[in-house]
Amino acid sequence: MVQDIARASSLASGRGQTSTTMANLKRSFNNRTCEAPYLIFLGPPGSGKGTQAEKLHQNFRLVQLSTGNLFREHISKGTELGLKVKNILAKGELVPDDLTIAMVMERLARPDTIMGVVFDGFPRTRDQALALQYRLDEKGKCITAAIQFKIDDDDIIERLSSRRMCPKDNTIYNLKSNAPKEDEKCDLCGTALIMRDDDKPDVIRHRLQVYRQQTEPLIEFYREQDMLVEIDAGRSIEDITAQLDEWMPMFIYNAN
Ligand SMILES: [Zn+2]
Repeated sequence: MVQDIARASSLASGRGQTSTTMANLKRSFNNRTCEAPYLIFLGPPGSGKGTQAEKLHQNFRLVQLSTGNLFREHISKGTELGLKVKNILAKGELVPDDLTIAMVMERLARPDTIMGVVFDGFPRTRDQALALQYRLDEKGKCITAAIQFKIDDDDIIERLSSRRMCPKDNTIYNLKSNAPKEDEKCDLCGTALIMRDDDKPDVIRHRLQVYRQQTEPLIEFYREQDMLVEIDAGRSIEDITAQLDEWMPMFIYNAN
């Protein structure tokens, strides 16, 4: 792994310095030949990146690659990688990067990734990003862009703290954007809605703090390579989808 990182560092060096304008991105994209758009979504919990990854899957057939889902899939299928992960998680330990990368590379080798991939929630650290870049380079693939979902902490807290869940059937509502018909009661079964502990302001603030500490270096990593694209994630779901749809032809063009 250390060697991977050293090699990826040398691959990554020599590219332009900090700039995030579209003109710069277009220029640097032109020096990159990837097989298909490989997009990394970076954003805090509540920024809506999972929703947008799902939209790119529906609209452009990009595979939504989430490591959490991959772990669950391998564990339920009982694969060799899945058994290793299961043992590690059972001990309450973190899955090591080399195992995570092995699963990611196995996923990327499946034929449905031909139209491209959205990485949702991975990489989380600079080391993972370097390792991913090196492995992709070995296969003649590369990251097209890293899209940063930018949103103020206060907006996230407001968004998540207006979420409610039906304790009976787990249906999720949002008092602001997707309110139940009757005051704080489930449309399906009439049960009084509850607020999940995860959505309480103090808990959200802590999660955001952890996220920023982990991810700031990653954002810098992609910015240094002129790969970073910022998107204003404080807007409506529809507006963000429209923005991504507008960018997609450029991502696809530069991938071919
Ligand atoms: Zn219900």
